[in-house]
Amino acid sequence: MDYCLTTAALCKQYKNFKALNGLSMHVPKGSIYGLVGRNGAGKTTLIRLISGIQEPTSGEYTLYGVKNTDRAIYKVRRRIGAVVETPAIYSNMTAEENLKIQYQILGIPNYDGIEDLLQLVDLADCGKKKTKDFSLGMRQRLGIAVALCGSPDFLVLDEPVNGLDPQGIIAIRELILRLNKEKQITILISSHILDELAKLATYYGFVDGGTIVKEISDTELNAACRKCVRLSVTNTKALCRVLDHMGIEYNIISDTDADIYGEISVTHLAMALAQENCEIKSMQEHDESLENYYMNLVGGEKNA
Ligand code: ATP
Repeated sequence: MDYCLTTAALCKQYKNFKALNGLSMHVPKGSIYGLVGRNGAGKTTLIRLISGIQEPTSGEYTLYGVKNTDRAIYKVRRRIGAVVETPAIYSNMTAEENLKIQYQILGIPNYDGIEDLLQLVDLADCGKKKTKDFSLGMRQRLGIAVALCGSPDFLVLDEPVNGLDPQGIIAIRELILRLNKEKQITILISSHILDELAKLATYYGFVDGGTIVKEISDTELNAACRKCVRLSVTNTKALCRVLDHMGIEYNIISDTDADIYGEISVTHLAMALAQENCEIKSMQEHDESLENYYMNLVGGEKNA
């Protein structure tokens, strides 16, 4: 798989406190990567490091194949657009003026792309309105537009829906999906709101105590969180034959256990297994919701 960002044993220490403690992660190109973790888990610290705002204490990261210790990292970092913590916008200026300033900072010779950018983030009708009079959602969208000025192919968003109302959240979600699908931008989003990320992410990194405790694709996560019946039997080969014959979806877990998906008639199954000399030892409903999955990973109180 091609990655636009990988980190290896990344550490960031503040005095005696390790905000990042050997964090290793892999962000596939083209993905929407959800970095999930409770407050203080280290999400913003990680984003500050890869954006070049801070240096790691030890460990390394690689952006588009270039290590952070390589001189070329400064050039590669131009491929990243980031909104870290609060969007970097001037409150006494309009949306258009803010984008013009960013174009100047980046040395872009003309303002040709600004109208399209304003359309993209749904701020084309704001005219002379100063950003201090914008809603939080409008400010967040403008922050994303500022991050998009250099036409990045990797967008990093730190808690982009924090504090937004439901409409604001939907607008940001739709924008993120468009940027990913239509413009093929890889997106890393940090959030402690797992349910919101679940509507977007194609990959997840669960972070806790400054390390990634699990990386998983959305397909794997959905499979792990599906409702199923966990069956323990004396002969899984016989179980496979019976389930295949009945057209039932299943997943073999071990020599004795299998997860069975969908509706099943327990009586029919038990009878068919008996004909194969296979006995059911136990049967348990298994319903791992997204939240339970997360809690099982990180333990402790509910934070996501
Ligand atoms: P949140 O969602 O609350 O922002 P987070 O996952 O983004 O959480 P970080 O902001 O990365 O967490 O902080 C990780 C830990 O590092 C926290 O305990 C925080 O207090 C600590 N920390 C962050 N920056 C500094 C700093 N400059 N000096 C000392 N400690 C810091």
